[in-house]
Amino acid sequence: MSLSDELFERAKKVIPGGVNSPVRAYRNVGRTPLFIKKAVGSKIYDVDDNEYIDFVNSWGPIILGHSYNDIIDSVKNSAIYGLSFGAPTEIEVLIAELICEIVPNIEMIRMVNSGTEAVMSALRLARGVTGKSKIIKFEGCYHGHSDPMLVKAGSGALTEGEPNSAGVIKEIAEHTLIAQYNNLESVEELFKKNKNDIACIIVEPVAANMGVIPPEDGFLEGLRNFCDKYNALLIFDEVITGFRLALGGAQEYFGVNADIVIFGKIIGGGMPVGAYCGKRKIMEHISPVGNVYQAGTLSGNPIAMAAGYEQLMVLNKNRDILKTVSMNSDYIANEMRKIVDKYKIDAKINQIGSLISVFFTKNKVNSFKTAIQSDEKIFNEYFNCMLDNGIYIAPSQFEAIFISFAHQSEDFKRFLEVFEKTMSMLKKH
Ligand SMILES: *Cc1c(COP(=O)(O)O)cnc(C)c1O
Repeated sequence: MSLSDELFERAKKVIPGGVNSPVRAYRNVGRTPLFIKKAVGSKIYDVDDNEYIDFVNSWGPIILGHSYNDIIDSVKNSAIYGLSFGAPTEIEVLIAELICEIVPNIEMIRMVNSGTEAVMSALRLARGVTGKSKIIKFEGCYHGHSDPMLVKAGSGALTEGEPNSAGVIKEIAEHTLIAQYNNLESVEELFKKNKNDIACIIVEPVAANMGVIPPEDGFLEGLRNFCDKYNALLIFDEVITGFRLALGGAQEYFGVNADIVIFGKIIGGGMPVGAYCGKRKIMEHISPVGNVYQAGTLSGNPIAMAAGYEQLMVLNKNRDILKTVSMNSDYIANEMRKIVDKYKIDAKINQIGSLISVFFTKNKVNSFKTAIQSDEKIFNEYFNCMLDNGIYIAPSQFEAIFISFAHQSEDFKRFLEVFEKTMSMLKKH
């Protein structure tokens, strides 16, 4: 029995399912999870000292690679002064100024502790500003686990086959209206039926929690137009796309402005952070200046701010980093497509910037409907073969492969060798 297996047995006795977030449990891929000891650069090591090349990268935050020296130093240097004060600190001002400078269309930002919390707060703000109650969300998009967002959710909820959660009462769920991603008609229909009741649309500008699905031409612009026409706010959940697609996120990349933008993951450099931001006239509805209440004992925590600030500073000073990561990702995705063709596997490789998804289906994947057509049994064989050969990827058809700045040519070479071996294995039956 490996140390991971032993720890998992103990964990299951004291933690529900043995994990603190469901998709980590590896249930749908039929094995026990690896318990991690450490990670450096592109490599991650389990407690049994097995080495893997990491393409999960903590599900997104680790865009520079693990244990990046300057970030680790910033955390150490901050810790010396104390861990939390529950009072304002200079580093909060520095990171807020930096984000307002590098993200287009943003004048103010409020820090919270997770993406979930940022989404929950942003929805309250949108309702507070507009005085309306209904929210449009897209099937298969994931926005954390607050009650109104656990309706037709993606990510772990989809992997575990429970896109709707028990415990969410219908009086809350019925205010979440569901549209189809990349389908403007489905949005228009909801606006027509609920003309004066829709506070906001919330969207992942690139869907990345039902696998990676980029927006089709005109989709985000169309959402912007509906919001203007019907006096609703457009919320971009950029927890994955922020500081990744471009330094200024999806707003910069696609040239579409949102009213409220949500960040998480990368913004904390690996520490627990979320944030929501927008123009002053919207953000000043938040207490203590406005009447939309939102608070947090550990919000703007100095260590988390130090890590996030350092990561964003590195990305801001070295504008080529995101370009390099994105070019590497283009290359990998193209090589993967060649291998899939060579072995005549029914698979589609979606990619944008540093995000890649392999869908085991014949058809183009541009919607929730087409994403869930992919064959999960084949995905599981693929996952197990990749992992057994030292490639650490997410144990779910509906999560992305994250390319980081630490991945070097030998990592890509190894990845493609194992990917080819896996495809030839899949071909045999
Ligand atoms: C991960 C994620 C969230 C939730 O963030 P947590 O920090 O896990 O609460 C919200 N939105 C998107 C798009 C995400 O990928």
